[in-house]
Amino acid sequence: MSLNYKCMEDDMDSENVYGGPNVIIPNRPVLFDANACTGCNSCVETCMMDVLLPNPEQGKPPIVLYPDECWYCGCCVQECPSGDAGAIYLNWPLTLRMRWKRKETGENYRLGMPDPPPPNEKPPV
Ligand code: SF4
Ligand code: SF4
Repeated sequence: MSLNYKCMEDDMDSENVYGGPNVIIPNRPVLFDANACTGCNSCVETCMMDVLLPNPEQGKPPIVLYPDECWYCGCCVQECPSGDAGAIYLNWPLTLRMRWKRKETGENYRLGMPDPPPPNEKPPV
């Protein structure tokens, strides 16, 4: 299926399909690094919720068209061939970010944080 994309500001009389990011919804579930993304659109094709839209400019990161419908399933990140280069990033809402707490010390951290506390040497009870 091929689609024509036009921005909302463009001529409304044309026969193009109109689409653009939903700026009213403040959440940004998926972030892209335009320097690492090749615009291959694998993430767009794999998203079961059709959250993403191919960028009309070839080689540019997709547009997050329906951010409020993202399930945070991570399929788009998983499918990205440039994921290791940081092309796409799942931006979990704060309420969904799991945190870990050591009972013994009270240390509070989450996996992947830049400066986590050292590993717990104490064997499990
Ligand atoms: S996290 Fe899942 S639902 Fe959200 S954009 Fe990626 S593939 Fe789509
Ligand atoms: S984020 Fe990854 S999968 Fe999506 S268009 Fe860019 S390179 Fe392709």
